[in-house]
Amino acid sequence: MVKRVRAAAAALVLLSPVPAAAAVRADSVDILVRGGTVYDGSGGPALHADIGIRGDRIVFVGDAATAALKAGKTIDATGLIVSPGFIDPHTHSFEGLPNLSEERRKNVGALMQGVTTVVTGADGRGPFDVAGVLGEAERLGIGTNTYALTGFGTVRVKVMGNSSAAATPAEIDSMRALITKGMGEGAFGVGAGLFYAPQSYATTEEVIAVLKGATPYGGVYDSHHRDESSYTIGLLNSVREAMRIGRETGLTTNIGHVKALGVDVWGYADSVLALMRAERAAGHMVVADQYPWTASGTSLVASLVPRWAESGGRDSLRLRIADSVTREKLLPEMRENLRRRGGDSTLLLTGGPPAAKPYIGRTLKQVAAEKGTGAVETALDLIGTVGDMGVASFNMTERDIETFMKDPYVMTSSDGSAGHPRLYGTFPRKIRRYVLDKPVITMERMVRASSGQVAEVYGIPDRGALKEGYFADVIVFDPKTIRDVATYVEPEKLSVGMRWVFVNGRVAVADGVPTGVLAGKGIRRAVGPR
Ligand SMILES: [Zn+2]
Repeated sequence: MVKRVRAAAAALVLLSPVPAAAAVRADSVDILVRGGTVYDGSGGPALHADIGIRGDRIVFVGDAATAALKAGKTIDATGLIVSPGFIDPHTHSFEGLPNLSEERRKNVGALMQGVTTVVTGADGRGPFDVAGVLGEAERLGIGTNTYALTGFGTVRVKVMGNSSAAATPAEIDSMRALITKGMGEGAFGVGAGLFYAPQSYATTEEVIAVLKGATPYGGVYDSHHRDESSYTIGLLNSVREAMRIGRETGLTTNIGHVKALGVDVWGYADSVLALMRAERAAGHMVVADQYPWTASGTSLVASLVPRWAESGGRDSLRLRIADSVTREKLLPEMRENLRRRGGDSTLLLTGGPPAAKPYIGRTLKQVAAEKGTGAVETALDLIGTVGDMGVASFNMTERDIETFMKDPYVMTSSDGSAGHPRLYGTFPRKIRRYVLDKPVITMERMVRASSGQVAEVYGIPDRGALKEGYFADVIVFDPKTIRDVATYVEPEKLSVGMRWVFVNGRVAVADGVPTGVLAGKGIRRAVGPR
């Protein structure tokens, strides 16, 4: 394994037993994971240690033989890596709860990546009825844990519909009260997606005024920020806006799925990280999360259509597309948006309503050639006739991805959504591609960025580390075989190499096979207002 785990080689040299004098320990456990190479989530070097689980907790970390520990079941982890279950801070897994099928609620695609906890409420779509959603999740059963962010987008739609108008003081008061309600019910922060209509219609000042509803609680301002490219205010100004919103509301800023999107901003990763460093030096915490793919997952409308055309919602958009004068105004702006993203061969159609089926798996360029119409004309026709379609948009460079990944304040996330392999492959891909095959980061950094660091940033209690007393979210994977299998054409292929996954002490993956158990919990923020 030392040979295969090249990036972790330095750490393996330092392998040492855990000090014998640890905290209170059990003398018997239900499950003992014996003989593995342990990355405990702290970012420190690997240890040789045995991990004991009793009930839903880790009750032993150390040398089981020396401690004469009795175990109900022993798992031989020789040659395998043992780490805390991964925590995914940007997902769409449980959006739509309680109206999700049991299959969806099992979240097997995440479990097979070693993910044991996912956020609900990225991009500003989080609930304000946090207690209700978490309660329903637990009543129906979920395969991974989840914690919630309340959502700026949700509250704006609730109070103002899809209006592009500025919020009135009364509307701001109503939105702020809903944010406060969500925080009071256990949200770990507030999400926003200012790139998306109708959230995009809110000024910085409006967002700050509304998010002050979270200020008494603290937590994270999680941001799909306004412009990851050169659409409106530009990437760097957009990062500045996200940091200002966090700073002025007393929340940690998280730049969700950080990237440099499109030809105009390629190479900007260093500049983004420099802005974040300066912000931290000035006393405000800002972090980011990232998925390891060169394509983002979005939709035809979101990627190509200017936001003004969406004012009033989808029906209004359809009327505008049908109106020849408005259509003539849309086309040049859409051409510019397509150029920004890299052209018609970089948009792969991945999903949509049933009528979208003949187009799935083909690029916009291919469909346009077949129809004999221009690229943006084809996109508009598809939106008008078929409806909005999901796209994989190849708009990032490996160089920027690696630059972001190496930064100690950039965590792992999937942004998992239907039609993109990141939903099924993110964590194994990062391990395979950026730790094992190419030593961009070390295994200890990979594990920390995907577990302990996320728990600390969000304040998730008793998870994200292999420590006695912590919840038994524990994973065991094989560094020889772990890899992602999902592709852009077949995005729902389960990853391989994850051997054992425990969620709250229950076996969710047994020797590589998902058990279907619904062992997840809704995690609530315990503390009230500061
Ligand atoms: Zn997003």
